Amino acid sequence: MFKERKLMKDKLVSFVDLVAKELPDDIYKKIKLLEAEEDASLANEIYSCMSINMKRAKELNRPICQDTGVLQFYIRAGSKFPYLADLKELLTEVTKEVTKSAPLRPNAVEVFDEVNTGNNVGTKLPWIEWDIIDDSKNLEIEVYMAGGGCSLPGRSVVLPPLSGYEGAVQFVFDTVVEMGINACPPLIVGIGIGTCSNTAASLSKKAMLRPINTSNPHPFAAELEKKIEEGLNNIKMGPQGVTGKKSVLGVNIEGMAHHPSTLGVGITIGCWASRHGIIKFDENFNSVITTHKEK
Ligand code: SF4
Repeated sequence: MFKERKLMKDKLVSFVDLVAKELPDDIYKKIKLLEAEEDASLANEIYSCMSINMKRAKELNRPICQDTGVLQFYIRAGSKFPYLADLKELLTEVTKEVTKSAPLRPNAVEVFDEVNTGNNVGTKLPWIEWDIIDDSKNLEIEVYMAGGGCSLPGRSVVLPPLSGYEGAVQFVFDTVVEMGINACPPLIVGIGIGTCSNTAASLSKKAMLRPINTSNPHPFAAELEKKIEEGLNNIKMGPQGVTGKKSVLGVNIEGMAHHPSTLGVGITIGCWASRHGIIKFDENFNSVITTHKEK
């Protein structure tokens, strides 16, 4: 398996490198759309800086933002994919290598010691979450670079039952109004409706990573996504908070059945430079990147 391991490692290093330097297609397109719609002059300047930034990052082979975050991997692993046992170790090696080669900013500060490890690896970093897919021979790896500014507004709360969905919406607006500007708007707002704080937070990350041109399949949730997006856009935060037509790139909601006495609500915010991507492998280690096709 030595040859296959090396092949996978090389592919993952260049995949993470790409994610640091180019936005996924859905986010890139939405930024260009907001830029075309904007008519405030300062906001236009900021969108134009973002476009130049993206172009220069590609030309100079550099990350889009100096804060390349901490690496978080979300794995959807077929139970029959031939190479699962060593994947955690492999992703740790990939993280160290791409930190040097890209390069990525070392952002892992070891817990309690409060010393930067220098290679983006530390206790539970890179962060890895697993879903096992029955009977599949394929492997899907999603990577997200969790920057500091965009992680700052992340919150979760457990509301009493009488608060209802109105309470959830209030919590979302309070959070975005108070903290959203720290996260380099226009924002992606991921909302999780759960049963306790960790399920709500985890679902909000899943929502934030869902493509921004999609809707929740449940009509009530889809309507809520639309209304919250309209409401947040009416705040007119504009790019980088300088005021402008729009505040958000998108609002996504994910949910789960919950205890009758609780409504967990989580928020995860993505910035305009939300760097994430998906790579898929088949059992023969052929791969395709599904998020970055059109540029
Ligand atoms: S919020 Fe995003 S764009 Fe702003 S500094 Fe952090 S990673 Fe960079």
